[in-house]
Amino acid sequence: MSDWDLLEKECYECVKCKLHQTRKNVVIERGNREADLMLIGEAPGANEDELGKPFVGQAGKLLDMALYSMGIYEKDVYICNIVKCRPPNNQNPTEEEAASCISYLERQISLVNPKVIVLLGSVALKYLIRSELSITKARGTWLAYNKIDVMPTFHPAALLRDESKKTMMWKDIKKAWIRAQE
Ligand code: SF4
Repeated sequence: MSDWDLLEKECYECVKCKLHQTRKNVVIERGNREADLMLIGEAPGANEDELGKPFVGQAGKLLDMALYSMGIYEKDVYICNIVKCRPPNNQNPTEEEAASCISYLERQISLVNPKVIVLLGSVALKYLIRSELSITKARGTWLAYNKIDVMPTFHPAALLRDESKKTMMWKDIKKAWIRAQE
C-alpha cells in the first residue's frame, strides 16, 4: 500500500474527533499530488461534504476563477483543508478538532512537498503556522512552514461578502505562483 493509499484509508476510517459523527464524506483533496503550489483552506462546507472534494461550492468557484485568470489550472495546484470533515453549521473547526486532524495535513504536505503554500483565511493561518496575526495583517507577506514558503491570503468566502478584497487575494496568489515556478 502506498503512502497516499494509507493516508486515504486512515482518513476515510477516522473517528478521532466528533466531526466524524455528522460527515457525509471525508474531504481529502483535489488537484495534482505533484504540484508546486498547495492551497489550504479551513474545512469542508455543505457542497464539499456532499461531493467529497474541497472548494467545490460558491467560494471554490471564485477560487477557480482567480486561478484560471492567472493561467493556473487544477493540474498546477493541490487543494485541501485543515480538517477533513465538515463542522456542523459551517462553524470554524475548534482547537481540538484541528489538533486531531493536523497530522493528516502534515503528511499531505510532506508527500506533495510543494515549493509554496497559500493559506486561505485566518483559520488555516492559525492552525498551520500557529500565528495569532489577523489575516488582514498577515496577507501578502511571506511566512515559512518547515522551510516551505507560505503566503497567507483571504479565504475566497470572505470575497463573497466583501468584493474589495478580490484584488488583494489575486495579487497574493500571483506572488505565490511566480515563486512556485522559480
Ligand atoms: S476531522 Fe479529521 S480528525 Fe476529525 S474525524 Fe474527520 S478526519 Fe478524523
